[in-house]
Amino acid sequence: MKSILEAIENNADTKAFAALQIPDSYRAAVVRKEDQEMFAGVASADKDPRKSVHIQEVATPEIAPDEALIAVMASSINFNTVWSSIFEPISTFSALTRLARESEWAKRHDLPYHIMGSDASGVVLRVGSAVRNWKPGDRITVHCNHVDDQDPSSHNDSMLGSNQRIWGYETNFGGLADLSVVKANQLMPKPEHLSWEEAAVNALCNSTSYRMLVSPNGAHMKQGDVVLIWGATGGIGAYATQYVLNGGGIPIGVVSSADKAEILRGMGVEAIIDRRAGNYQFWKDENTHDEKEWKRFGGDIRALVGEDPDIVFEHPGRSTFAASMYVAKKGGTIATCAATSGYMMEFDNRYFWMRLKKLVGSHFANYREAWEANRLIQKGMIHPVLSQVFDLNQTGDAAYQVHKNMHEGKIGVLCMAPREGMGISNPEFREKVGEKNLRHFRRS
Ligand code: NAP
Repeated sequence: MKSILEAIENNADTKAFAALQIPDSYRAAVVRKEDQEMFAGVASADKDPRKSVHIQEVATPEIAPDEALIAVMASSINFNTVWSSIFEPISTFSALTRLARESEWAKRHDLPYHIMGSDASGVVLRVGSAVRNWKPGDRITVHCNHVDDQDPSSHNDSMLGSNQRIWGYETNFGGLADLSVVKANQLMPKPEHLSWEEAAVNALCNSTSYRMLVSPNGAHMKQGDVVLIWGATGGIGAYATQYVLNGGGIPIGVVSSADKAEILRGMGVEAIIDRRAGNYQFWKDENTHDEKEWKRFGGDIRALVGEDPDIVFEHPGRSTFAASMYVAKKGGTIATCAATSGYMMEFDNRYFWMRLKKLVGSHFANYREAWEANRLIQKGMIHPVLSQVFDLNQTGDAAYQVHKNMHEGKIGVLCMAPREGMGISNPEFREKVGEKNLRHFRRS
């Protein structure tokens, strides 16, 4: 690992990288199959990733012809890291077993440990014999769409592929490790003005928000659209907020604290709702909605921007979904990609059909969407929302923060990178983009 790191720090050429010896094993953040039932009977909020995430040495897998082995300099915590580590809504080991049935190469994934992580920045070390566009030494970021290019159903939009998966969640060998195995069509160029940890936090959340809001596969936002964004300083919400500002829309950011509202103001958001201060009680009890509260929420939105939202960026799920359906403008779109608070949703259909609204289900992004979202980061038009940086050895603590909603934006994780701030290869462009734009979410 030392010689790999030296080669990266010295910007070695392709030949030097290709000559490096690959270690037989490497350090990784894993959950273990033997722990799958450890939280049985424990309430979801009390399931603690610090108990289930382990750091251990794992064997380096062989790569398939269409794959690359990468040195991971940094990764990030996503909400799927939380789902894997609390074994909810299902244990991810079932996904690994299903994947293993697909091919000889896929069998590698079915192991008693699951290496988590669906983001990475780093350097290509080896490429398989069928890889054309990448070579050892390339500095890359990784998007998490793991797709079978021999499956006809994935050729219009790869997110529709019958066996499309999320790397590091539904596959093994994820990014929370010193090395990782990815398909070559997950690779994207690393934005040169960013450090490893800044470059590592974007791909999953940025691409998801791009598809949900900007892409014709999502809400296809246009200039002037009013967009209600739940969790506007959270992982996906913080990119959604930037897309609305960047694309000439009018964001209404919902957050739960004065500090988060301050971050939004710093980004240029004028219409902000503090849901905690507003104390909206959309449910009277577990089974009874309170329509008066939807109306109060809608009234507060109108008071801020003078109209109803054209688009609602929805992901909290059960707790907010009926209100989201209610407040959307006549003919408006509700785009959803998740259900953090519960996936059995209910809403009053009268407000849906009589007001001719549209509901769009969205999930991650295809390669093109991920590439376009990455390009906007490369061009300094969308920025990383890194708030804190943890070491790989602290992955459990970092996942705990996200599980408990103690964070803002994204938490970065240093893997092979020995310290923060490394990997910037275009400082002139960084200066042009502006340090301020890169630090809205930083705690220190
Ligand atoms: P995150 O960083 O935790 O942010 C979510 C934000 O939502 C929180 O910061 C919180 O903001 C808000 N929130 C949480 N519970 C809420 C509730 N009951 N009512 C209202 N607001 C609530 O997580 P994330 O990375 O943005 O991910 C959000 C969800 O999207 C997760 O369920 C994740 O699994 C899912 N996701 C799906 C995809 C996909 O491809 N389908 C991709 C990425 C993420 P405030 O407390 O400030 O309001």
